[in-house]
Parts: sequence; C-alpha cells; structure tokens
Amino acid sequence: MLTIKGTGVSPGIKVGKAFLLSREGPFIPRWRISRGEVDRELARFERAVDHAKKRIIQVKDKISREMGERYADIFGAHLLVLEDISLIEETKQQVREREMNAEYIFVGVLERIAKKLSALDDEYLGGRSVDIRDVGKRVLSNMIGSKRKGLSHIKEEVIIVAHDLSPSDTATMRKETILAFATDVGGKASHTAIMARAIEIPAVVGLRNITEEVGEDDTVIVDGTEGVVIINPDEETLVKYQKKDLELKTYEKEFEDSVPLPAQTRRGHQVKLSANIEILDEIPLVLSHGAAGIGLYRTEFFYINRQKLPTEDEHYEAYKSIVEKMAPYSVTIRTFDIGGDKFISQLQLPEEMSSFRDFRSIRSYLAQPEILKVQLRAILRAAVHGELRVMYPMISRIEELRATKEILDTAKDELRRSGIRFNERIRVGAMIETPSAVMTADILAKEVHFFSIGTNDLVQYSLAADRVDEQRLQPYEPVHPGILRLIKMVIDTAHREKIPVSICGEMASEPAYIPILLGMGLDEFSMSAIAIPEAKRVIRAITMTEAKRIARKCLTMSTAEEVDRYAREKLKKIAPDVRQYYQR
Ligand code: PEP
Ligand code: MG
Repeated sequence: MLTIKGTGVSPGIKVGKAFLLSREGPFIPRWRISRGEVDRELARFERAVDHAKKRIIQVKDKISREMGERYADIFGAHLLVLEDISLIEETKQQVREREMNAEYIFVGVLERIAKKLSALDDEYLGGRSVDIRDVGKRVLSNMIGSKRKGLSHIKEEVIIVAHDLSPSDTATMRKETILAFATDVGGKASHTAIMARAIEIPAVVGLRNITEEVGEDDTVIVDGTEGVVIINPDEETLVKYQKKDLELKTYEKEFEDSVPLPAQTRRGHQVKLSANIEILDEIPLVLSHGAAGIGLYRTEFFYINRQKLPTEDEHYEAYKSIVEKMAPYSVTIRTFDIGGDKFISQLQLPEEMSSFRDFRSIRSYLAQPEILKVQLRAILRAAVHGELRVMYPMISRIEELRATKEILDTAKDELRRSGIRFNERIRVGAMIETPSAVMTADILAKEVHFFSIGTNDLVQYSLAADRVDEQRLQPYEPVHPGILRLIKMVIDTAHREKIPVSICGEMASEPAYIPILLGMGLDEFSMSAIAIPEAKRVIRAITMTEAKRIARKCLTMSTAEEVDRYAREKLKKIAPDVRQYYQR
C-alpha cells in the first residue's frame, strides 16, 4: 500500500482498477475478447504486422535507390524486429491466454522488450530498443490509426492514471466508465481540472510520480476531496474509505437545503451567484445546485474535437437552448478563447483555425474576423430569447475591444439588412485577466457594460506562474498580496465607472476566499456548479461588516500563506460546517 498526496481538484471518492495512459503516442484501447474471437483477433494482428512489413520494404527500397544502400540499413533492422519471434509469438500467445485485444497486449510485450534492451550496457542493443518502439508505432497505427483517440473508447470501469491530460481528453471522458483520474502534474485552475468538475469525475493532480508508482490493473483509491491517492490499499483502508464516501455524500445532501435560498448575507446584502459551464450537458447540474444564471460559458469546447467549424445555426441552437433553460436568469457567453498555449497541444481543431497556433483568442479574432463574426451573429440572434450577454477574453489593450466592437457592428448590420431578428442592445463585457487590463480598467470600463475578472489567467500572468502545473515556475497563489490588490483595483474602478464586476476564475469557488472577495465589494461570483451550495452557505453565514473587515485585514498582509491561513481560520468560525477543500 502506498499513499501519495496531491491536489484534489474535483471532489468525491472512487475505488477501481488503474488504467495507465502512455505519455505520448496514440491512446491504446483495451477490451476483453471471447474465446471464439481469438482467431479473428490474431488474424487482425497478423494483417497489421504484414502491412507494416510491406511498408518498411517499400521505404527501404526507395531510400536505397535514392540515397544508397548504406542509408537503408536502419530499415533492415526494422524488418528484423518484425521477424523477431519473441515479439510476435509472445503477443499471439498472450492474446490466446489472456483473451484481450491484440494492440493492448502488443504494447505491453513491446515495452517490456524495449525496456530490457535499453537497460543493458550495450550501445548496439540499446539502439535496438529505439527500433522496436518505432516499428511498434507502425503496427499500432495500422490497428488503431495514428491519432490519439478519445477516452470514450474505454469500455470498462477504470481509474485513469496519466502524466497529464489535455482538456480535450477530459472532455471525452464518460462517467459510466471513467471513475476518477490521477495525474503527475496539474493545478486546480487548469482546464482539465475545470472539466473534471463539470462532468463530476473525482480527480487528484500534481502527484508528481504516480505514473511510476502505479502498475496496470493495480487497485487505486482516488480521494478528490482531500487530494489523496492510495495504491493497492489494504482491507482496513478500503473499509475506511467506504465510510468516508458515505459521509461525503451525507455532507453534500445537507447542503441541498440551501439550493433554493437567495445568495445574501446575514443582514440581506444580495450578491449574484452564478455558474460556469463548458458543455450544454451541465445545465441540469447548474439548475439543481441553485445557480442564479451563467456567469461564464466557455464556448471553446464547442470548437474542439471536431473537423469542421460549427455553423452559425449550430451556435444559435445551442445558445437559444441555454438561455431558454436558464430563464429568467442571465447567461454570459464568452466568445471562444483558443490559441497560443490554450487548448492547442494535442488538440483536434477545425482546419480553418490553424493560424490560432500563433495567437491567443483576441488576436486571432483580428487575424480571422470571420470566425468571430459567425459566433457573434448567433449570439445576437439568440439574445432575443432571453437575457443573454457577451464578453471577450484576454483583453490587454483598448484597441482590441474596439476591434471586437467593429466586428459586432458588422454582424448587426448584416442581420439588419437580411431582416433577421436580433437583440440590438446586447450587453457587452470585458474579461480582466491580464495585468495591463487591470491597470487600464478605467479606460476599458467606458466602453463596456460589465467586467468579469478571470483570476485563473490573471494569477498566471501576474506571478509568472503556470496554471496547468502549479508546482512549476513559481507557486500559483490566488491570494498573493499582489493579486488581492489587482482585484481590489478592478472592483473599485468598475464601481467608480458604475459598472458591475464578477469573478469567474476558480478562486471565486474557494469557500475560504469568498469573504475576502465579498468584503472587497464583488457583485457576482461565478463558479463550477458543484461549488455553489457551499458558496451560498458561506455568503449566508456572514455579514458585510465582517467580510469588509476580513478583506481590509488581508489587504495589509505580506504573503499568500498568511492570507490563506487567516482566511481558513476565519471560515472555520463563520461557517464551521463548510468543509475546507483544496488545502494548500
Ligand atoms: C480565467 O482565466 O480565470 C477564466 C475564467 O477563463 P479560463 O479559465 O477559461 O481561461
Ligand atoms: Mg482565462
């Protein structure tokens, strides 16, 4: 039994068999076959091997013709790999014995041989391990294609263990088969963590070396609430966690009482408590957790894992359905935020978005305004069906905001000329998630109806930290004194300019930080649906006077640790029944 501590990013406890995901290359599906299917499976494997051999011979002949025999030697070595009895025969034997699909068995055999060779202190044999892996890729791509397939292909209940997962990997997870996941790296504000909460899959990240500690099929407990993973637990630990799981469910049930109550402080100061969503399937969860609207719809999930751009009508139907389901509450759609370091690695994007690799969201709009215009036309049309607002991500200069206004005006003109109904007076907001946007908030405020602070990015770009891997670069600290001051500046500026301000970054859902933000005068909190009942409990347990005092005190502190400790102590007094998740 081994216990590893990481960061719990999505609550819940699950026990299951580990499924190790390789760091790169295609995702290897795994399924059981019946005895009667063994011959067909072996034939499928032989075909893939034959195909790989033919291809290697073709390449070998071509190279030797064009560049000379000497350069073709490497392919001779590759052919030898496929004639190696131990690799091919052992795979076949294991398929017969274990009655599992050939690609899964083949990878296991391949890796074992390659590892054995590379461990030998022999340059020639060490080099052979590289050949073996290269050839393995060929055979595998004949069986499953070269692209990493989504995790929806997993057919049995498992716990995913991986070095890292991309948001698109997480988006393809199904709760019925993926019980939980655990990764070496990661942070609470990463999109993978955000997605895990959205689809309610317990998750622990930042475990550093879990992929080295866990073996395929090991039994694993994932405790996403406490941020702990236990490998091969003993009977006593299993029983303890079953009990903990029951307690957690009872705790969550208790919070259901606050669902229909208003989000107001003890003396009646009202705030808006809304939800962030990534996919439409989250709406029932949003409603059942008592959100008063959607403060952030991350529309980029609409664009990923697909070959073609969504059409205007597809956008329109989705937005109309959200706004109708959420009525009478408001829905804030954030135009897609893709590009640069966000969502690009391992991501399948429509071909038309290839230039987005070079720019982040707002700048890519300017490079390809047509894509934004399609989305804006749909938003304008859907806004006649309810309270729909639009906001732009990653604003760092006023020119960008003005450029989006031009595109919005063009979209309006086009709709007007075609006689299509739309909402002429749609409310427009700017996300404040770069330090320059904070410093120029007074300038930006004059050209929008509201602000929404994206602390996930603001923390990253202000502290030179990495939201995806909180241990890398610098500590990722949402309550760093610098960040608290930046937030205070934005709230004060917005109020001076008479516009409301919300926070839709993950910080808003941390129960201990809610009093600080409330005390600074924040108008709206937007968070993962599952965090809403506890947030409401905190807000209802405090008075504005207390919250202001806490905020003032925190603003005098010099380190994030001090603020965090103080905030947690205060929370224990204000709302002792609220569990303190996501401990540092
Ligand atoms: C943020 O940066 O805080 C935010 C809400 O946007 P995202 O997490 O999608 O980058
Ligand atoms: Mg952001």
